Amino acid sequence: MARRAGRICLDGLLIEYDALLAGAVFIARQACSNGHVKKKRGTDMIVAANWKMNPALDQAAVLATALASQPFSEIKRILFVPHPYLVPMSVRLTGAPLKIGGQDCHFADHGAYTGDVSAGMLCDCGASTVLLGHSERRSAHGESSDLVAQKISAALAQNLDVVLCVGETKAERDDKKAEQVVIDQLQASIPDNTPPTRLTIAYEPVWAIGTGAVASPDDIGAMHHIIASVLSERFGANALPPILYGGSVNAENAGSIFAVPLVGGALVGGASLDADAFAAICTAAQLASRNAG
Ligand code: PEP
Repeated sequence: MARRAGRICLDGLLIEYDALLAGAVFIARQACSNGHVKKKRGTDMIVAANWKMNPALDQAAVLATALASQPFSEIKRILFVPHPYLVPMSVRLTGAPLKIGGQDCHFADHGAYTGDVSAGMLCDCGASTVLLGHSERRSAHGESSDLVAQKISAALAQNLDVVLCVGETKAERDDKKAEQVVIDQLQASIPDNTPPTRLTIAYEPVWAIGTGAVASPDDIGAMHHIIASVLSERFGANALPPILYGGSVNAENAGSIFAVPLVGGALVGGASLDADAFAAICTAAQLASRNAG
């Protein structure tokens, strides 16, 4: 089939898309309108913290203790912590309803890769999940989607769940290439035979990360529809992985972001370092879960 650009209007949103995806867009829309995605979103709401290279260990311990004491039984919470903190945080959070994850892994099991960490090592240190393809890895470490796909394969082989980040830069959005960039990243980063139950996607516009600039609900909704269409084509409309939004999510804007159809939670950077702010975001996610359930 020839690749052709096209346009579709969904819920009043004009979306440019690749003609190859037209069927999948339709299937994703059907899933929304028959309530399936809405219900699934409610049961699967996820709030993930990306601590990046923060904070100091003593502050991390205080933060983890505060998070462990917060009762959020209706959502899933994940902490992506710096690698040296995996063991102390796993120990501190034993029995707490929080998953621990690493912020990257190497594609190889072992070898001469100074400074790198394998997926198996993450498991050994208490991780059950890993964040891959974050824009800070893609830009600062030159990680391509092909490399990200190799890392995802390595993580899945070790039974780690994966949160895959995708998102466009400001220049790409200004050039009206945002949708195609995200589609390309998804198609190249997700290896064949990936079980959808092990995958979560985080749509993170690069220009919104750590800047205080949040994508509008319309833009988030439009991109989530595109992502759902790609995932639907790959996995089927009944097996869509959760799709999170990330980029300057905070206590004030979380509710309006979670109200956007298909948003299944958030990946939170800066605000995840403040226990109260993170709790407020989790409260908003829990409310959205109840409303959607
Ligand atoms: C992130 O690092 O993934 C992120 C979304 O950061 P922030 O919330 O600070 O924008």
